[in-house]
Amino acid sequence: TDACLAAIDNADALNAFVHKTPDIAREQAAAADARLKTGDAPDLCGIPLGIKDLFCTKGVASQAASRILEGFRPEYESTVTTKLFEAGSVMLGKLNMDEFAMGSSNETSVYGNAVNPWRRGNDDAHLTPGGSSGGSAAAVAADLCLGATGTDTGGSIRQPAAFTGITGIKPTYGRCSRWGIVAFASSLDQAGPMAKDVRDAAIMLQAMCGHDPKDSTSADLPVPDFESMLTGDIKGKKIGIPKEYHMDGMPAEIDALWASGRDMLRDAGAEIVDISLPHTKYALPAYYVIAPAEASSNLARYDGVRYGHRAKLSQGDGITEMYENTRAEGFGEEVKRRVMVGTYVLSAGFYDAYYNRARKVRTLIKKDFEDAFHAGIDAILTPATPSAAFGLGEMVEADPVAMYLNDVFTVTVNLAGLPGVSVPAGLNGQGLPLGLQLIGRPWEEGDLLNTAYALE
Ligand code: GLN
Repeated sequence: TDACLAAIDNADALNAFVHKTPDIAREQAAAADARLKTGDAPDLCGIPLGIKDLFCTKGVASQAASRILEGFRPEYESTVTTKLFEAGSVMLGKLNMDEFAMGSSNETSVYGNAVNPWRRGNDDAHLTPGGSSGGSAAAVAADLCLGATGTDTGGSIRQPAAFTGITGIKPTYGRCSRWGIVAFASSLDQAGPMAKDVRDAAIMLQAMCGHDPKDSTSADLPVPDFESMLTGDIKGKKIGIPKEYHMDGMPAEIDALWASGRDMLRDAGAEIVDISLPHTKYALPAYYVIAPAEASSNLARYDGVRYGHRAKLSQGDGITEMYENTRAEGFGEEVKRRVMVGTYVLSAGFYDAYYNRARKVRTLIKKDFEDAFHAGIDAILTPATPSAAFGLGEMVEADPVAMYLNDVFTVTVNLAGLPGVSVPAGLNGQGLPLGLQLIGRPWEEGDLLNTAYALE
């Protein structure tokens, strides 16, 4: 813990930790030491972690990287962080992210962007660590903590993991409780671990999941011992290669990465099978209707009355001006864009044309995966992202859709509620990490992690 706290203080340039909690960390570390002496030490006893700013942590600023939550200190602890602390882990502080987890580059944060510790060749230009869990990815990659929590609504664990050469898993929807995590799009949001390797991710995930009566969508299922399932034996497993993920204009290095992943799994004894997920091309449009729709509803609660920032009122202002000015000042550009899109697609005149249509597409995407699994496929291999980490500012200058396209390989998994893991799979010609994604059957994270383990 002391070594991590010192590393964090030396790494302010990465802008990964936005609230440091050294006092809490030292207190938890001392308690872990005492617990170790009693011999009753769980797996995470004394392990220093970073927590994404989207998680409510009792008495500690929890702002979802938004101005509108300025000054908000929750009276409660999220279920996931409670479980991590019960398992003995130590909180070093809160990690940077895109505002309300909306983004793929950590550039919508009120704290400014986090920085990727990796550089492109000899180029000094700063790269994005990805998003929205950019601070988590940068912190783990730069050895500021041993692991971090992330959340993934459309790829926010897997894409930053790929951009920084670490491992991240989004479990099946319902595996981790969403209680106490600031809501973005409730039917898609899941928490998960971001860690240095598959084994660490398995150990963290073990502690994070489990049934929680406080989240009605949390699954009442036993949690297997994920770590004990990491045997590396994947003989006879059927790995699907979906042809629709061969995108036009995909960089050659991504094709090469995918081919090397196929070879590694085949060499480990798996059978490689070409499959089709025919509705893949509708996933991004459906996601960018459903996620904003749910966000516009979830974010209605930030009205200047209950939490955080409130605009100063002028003489004659009433409650309407208070709401309007608070939201105008408190939300950033991207959040406002999502609220407007979401409100539009949910409005009476357009509900059927957009929101209901997107929900039907979502069902078809889910069925594509079910068909593949019914046909005996155990896991599906794809690239995690369509490129390596891009430069800060590069995508923001393009139109917002260019940024949205970055999620092309990840959003299908959230729409279908499936578990997906991103594992580092080598470096590109410029020395930047690339990630492969494996998608698994619902509730079979242990099996999925074991396949990922074979790729490591
Ligand atoms: N980049 C996607 C978005 O902006 C996904 C974000 C996430 O998974 N939280 O919505």
